[in-house]
Amino acid sequence: MSSETITRQIVRIDEALCTGCGVCVSPCAEGAIQIVDGKAKVIREELCDGAGFCLGVCPTGALTLEERETVPFDHEAAEPIMAQKKANYIAQHCFNCGASEDAAPLLPVRTKGDSTWVCTRCLPALIHG
Ligand code: SF4
Repeated sequence: MSSETITRQIVRIDEALCTGCGVCVSPCAEGAIQIVDGKAKVIREELCDGAGFCLGVCPTGALTLEERETVPFDHEAAEPIMAQKKANYIAQHCFNCGASEDAAPLLPVRTKGDSTWVCTRCLPALIHG
């Protein structure tokens, strides 16, 4: 890893809001987030690409994006972690119709106090009633 730093977008975790539930660990394809001592942490900043896929699943709003100086995202470091996570990945399902993400893309959604997933086939009906 290079010691060069740049200003870029990266995930920020508010420890006061984090319950350590671990829901944000799985959506992070690069393995940047782990639970350490009961709190979510970006364990290696070069693994966080700042895309923010973890944000929507956090039930407490502990995750946000910030722009600050840090190391650049390291594709080469993330590649083997992404490949390993893919091998062990368990497909998620739409809370509304039960469709697997293999059948239709899923989006994170909050409903009745839960953070869950909805498929793109069900989303229009949920929006328009
Ligand atoms: S989903 Fe939110 S509350 Fe749960 S571990 Fe991640 S940051 Fe903490």
